[in-house]
Amino acid sequence: IAKDAIVRPLTTPDEKTTDSYTPTEQVQDYVRALWGSCMFPNCDVPAWDCDLDHRDPYDHENPATGGRTTAENLGPFCRKHHRGKTFGGWDLTKGEDGTLSITSPHGRTYPVAETGPIPLLGGTEPDRPVPDTAPDPKRRNRIQQHEARTRSERARNEGDYEPPPF
Ligand SMILES: [Zn+2]
Repeated sequence: IAKDAIVRPLTTPDEKTTDSYTPTEQVQDYVRALWGSCMFPNCDVPAWDCDLDHRDPYDHENPATGGRTTAENLGPFCRKHHRGKTFGGWDLTKGEDGTLSITSPHGRTYPVAETGPIPLLGGTEPDRPVPDTAPDPKRRNRIQQHEARTRSERARNEGDYEPPPF
């Protein structure tokens, strides 16, 4: 599959960034691998085809006072949704627990989930606080949930089965 792929190691970016508007290649790769796709809810444009948006706007006049060019302040938006955030009244905010949500111009708020390979492998943002509560060990993962539902439906259908009349 990866015969023609370009393989580059993915490392946690050094957050001692410059005041540059353009992120380093290391930060770009990390942010894209963290999010996987456009941050807008239900948009599946791959992060590698997206713009990297400064959540807190970058100040071109005085970079020290604006949003920083760091993995924490950057996220992928496809061009359409990037324009929606910048000019259309959509507002991206970060909660105290480190999670992001996006609020529409009409005031409805939607959670923004990381869907890239980093969270898939158990990683998260470098600065996200560790939750106080441990995950429930009895909680089923998606595969276990699917298997349990299949077993339940098969058990329910077992007594009702009648062969077709042909
Ligand atoms: Zn999008």
